[in-house]
Amino acid sequence: MRVPDLGPVRAFLGEEHPAFVAAVRAFATRELAPRKEPADDDAGRREARELLGLLGRQGVFAPIGACDWRGCCLAREALAAASPLADAVFALQGLGLVPILLSDNAAMRKRWMEPTLAGEAMAAFAMTEPEAGSDVASMTTRARRDGDAYVLEGRKAFISNAGIADYYSVFASTDPDAGSRGISCFVVPADTPGLRFLGPQVLSSPHPLGEIAFEGCRVPAANRLGEEGRGFVLGLKTLDRLRATVGAAACGMAARALQEALSHARKRKQFGKPLGEFQLVQEKLARMATELTAARLLVYRAAWEADGAAERVTIEAAMAKLYATEAAQRIVDDAVQVLGGAGVLAAHPVDRLYRSVRSLRIYEGTTEIQHLVIAGLLLGERDA
Ligand SMILES: Cc1cc2nc3c(=O)[nH]c(=O)nc-3n(C[C@H](O)[C@H](O)[C@H](O)COP(=O)(O)OP(=O)(O)OC[C@H]3O[C@@H](n4cnc5c(N)ncnc54)[C@H](O)[C@@H]3O)c2cc1C
Repeated sequence: MRVPDLGPVRAFLGEEHPAFVAAVRAFATRELAPRKEPADDDAGRREARELLGLLGRQGVFAPIGACDWRGCCLAREALAAASPLADAVFALQGLGLVPILLSDNAAMRKRWMEPTLAGEAMAAFAMTEPEAGSDVASMTTRARRDGDAYVLEGRKAFISNAGIADYYSVFASTDPDAGSRGISCFVVPADTPGLRFLGPQVLSSPHPLGEIAFEGCRVPAANRLGEEGRGFVLGLKTLDRLRATVGAAACGMAARALQEALSHARKRKQFGKPLGEFQLVQEKLARMATELTAARLLVYRAAWEADGAAERVTIEAAMAKLYATEAAQRIVDDAVQVLGGAGVLAAHPVDRLYRSVRSLRIYEGTTEIQHLVIAGLLLGERDA
């Protein structure tokens, strides 16, 4: 199985996609797969910045600028299979830039789009707070209007690229009494006085993450994305488009894990024959491949709907993210089992996948939140 193998999802792709993914796959195999896993958080942060430039010069971020969601899925699938950190870099360029692209703020688009796509500016997306995770609308970061600016006060946690980003798309409340309808979104350049990096939050897999604070941070009103109070909707629209790409990253990690398990099952002999000849191992391999194919069909169906200019693809994206990330966790775990002791050696690619795949079930809305979104839409409690 090649990563990504276009066979099962070809019906969802456009004419331009096979050549694009072939180029990304070749680049990822040549330039990314051989790179060593960074030894610690500092090294991971430096590596993320290096990867940003590499990916940008290669043109990998182009589908983000084109709002080509199938292209984004193909890119993330290929990157995640070779380097989960490179995939995270791609994900954040999308999360930081897409609110700008979906809003009508031409000045912010002019300032940030080109450098983001070229890998010259690193983006970040600041929504989560220490006391507001799944319940995003309960955020307490405030943006108070003051003349031709807003003054931001508050704290954000679990922010990818915190401390190394060049700009943050920040969600803050402009009207605390209005709940989710009082949230607005702002572009805050990293060098804005009053924006402070509080420190890293270190994961078991390389991923630059951390906390930031806004202390009397003055942001021009011109940096607001869309109308005041429409930030929550902008955030949801962004996530609707990018959740399928989280599923795609999960598929890339799962496909790599399956590839490693297949290769091991062919070569490793116990009891006088290759592991692949034992039916208990065959059952695992068959289940891994079947679940991966089902996951990819959900992912590319959601991206295809989004590329078809559907205004909201909430249920499709939620199903894709939910199923693909859960399936990938099972697939990667099965791959570790097929590899035996070799699969838990820290230097083995499958061990790195095992540590990396876990977060995908949490960020951009946990599995439980996806269940609530899907059921809410089925029961008619939510507006599609
Ligand atoms: C690697 C990583 C990168 C991240 N990057 C970013 C980023 O760049 N920007 C950003 O803004 N955020 C980011 N996040 C934050 C992420 O979006 C949150 O962690 C996520 O939304 C969950 O919030 P929480 O961690 O506070 O968990 P909580 O909301 O406290 O949830 C804890 C558990 O309770 C469950 N739960 C919560 N509410 C319910 C409910 N109503 N019903 C049933 N179960 C429920 C959850 O599903 C979860 O299992 C990142 C997180 C990680 C792990």
